[in-house]
Amino acid sequence: MKKQGDKIKVCWETPAVEILKNAKGEVVGAVGVRAGKKVIVRAKKAVVLCTGGYEYSRAMRSAFLEGPGINGWAFYGTTSNTGDGIAMGMAAGAGLQKTGKSAARVIVPTQAKFNGMRIGSITPSVGSPNSIVIDNYGKRYEAETKVTDNPSRYFFYKAAVQFDISSLTYPRTPSWMIFDEKLRSSKSLVALGISVVGFGLVDWDKENLKAIESGLILKADTIEELAEKIRNHPENKKRMVPANLVETVKRFNQFCDDKKDADFNRRPATLGKIEQGPFYAMPLVAGGPNTKGGLLANADREVLTWEGKPIPHLYCVGEIASALKFVYQGGGNLTECLVYGRHCGKIVAKLPDTKL
Ligand SMILES: Cc1cc2nc3c(=O)[nH]c(=O)nc-3n(C[C@H](O)[C@H](O)[C@H](O)COP(=O)(O)OP(=O)(O)OC[C@H]3O[C@@H](n4cnc5c(N)ncnc54)[C@H](O)[C@@H]3O)c2cc1C
Repeated sequence: MKKQGDKIKVCWETPAVEILKNAKGEVVGAVGVRAGKKVIVRAKKAVVLCTGGYEYSRAMRSAFLEGPGINGWAFYGTTSNTGDGIAMGMAAGAGLQKTGKSAARVIVPTQAKFNGMRIGSITPSVGSPNSIVIDNYGKRYEAETKVTDNPSRYFFYKAAVQFDISSLTYPRTPSWMIFDEKLRSSKSLVALGISVVGFGLVDWDKENLKAIESGLILKADTIEELAEKIRNHPENKKRMVPANLVETVKRFNQFCDDKKDADFNRRPATLGKIEQGPFYAMPLVAGGPNTKGGLLANADREVLTWEGKPIPHLYCVGEIASALKFVYQGGGNLTECLVYGRHCGKIVAKLPDTKL
């Protein structure tokens, strides 16, 4: 829709599917598809790919993500990011860099799905008082506050996707947030105003009751009973040892009395006992807003071949080739888009016109 004064025509509902080159191998345009018909867009100066990450590409998640790429991950970014630009860039000869990286922690995989992949939700309640995070065997494995604190929250997924070479399983996929009635009744466990709940993709209420009624959150009167329910959950695969969970909760509650987490040094202000039944367990998997690595590119955002040669007149900006990899810091994603977008735009504007 072109508004008066706009210099750029935006073609809505026209996903790009292919990059066009001339006989010399220079990029001269792109092909899109609108209402089932091909639309060819001629590039006067260059094609700049900015189609985001591959959060909702089954094939790329399986290929690139650490751990079980489909069921072991969930994202809360846009469902239209299916890695198209990465595929188009590769077809045009591009190499890849750090494509398996993500700005991720652990989040709840809700029951809402897109193309068979569970949609995750921002889960700021992880690390709250009256809660812990455990593996499939009933043991804590990190300070829960690292899931929400800076800077660890941007790469906590590295701990969550750990593979155990003895049992040949992923002991922390899924992880489980164990909490009590005090936390359940005090606040929503997920972010309600923004992201997937705010945009209506996921149905979640302030009291967390819908998630309990749907069976996503398990509920029990005692910790022993809760452990049995986790054990019988298909994703736990009978790995839970109920005595472990009972001991873990007892030990954590002692740390709360001591005001010191002797195992993982969790932030003391968050040490609140898990003691008021009923008790709950919510699955958590690796996930976050978006994937980060992608096409191989230089500082001017020229897309490079595996040999490091620029593909003439092909550029990329944003998550499709994030320079931050998995060490994203607050605000870094958008800053990167703005800084590189502007820098790349200035370079592209000065290029000689492409010729067919
Ligand atoms: C809930 C949430 C909170 C966030 N908070 C922050 C924050 O506080 N700070 C921060 O720095 N970052 C934050 N981020 C991350 C930030 O929004 C992203 O890093 C940034 O938007 C990435 O920009 P991008 O242009 O690379 O990709 P996107 O913004 O994802 O845009 C990609 C676009 O490409 C389109 N597209 C995909 N395929 C095609 C195709 N074939 N043809 C045409 N178009 C296509 C998609 O529809 C999409 O509109 C947050 C993300 C989410 C989801």
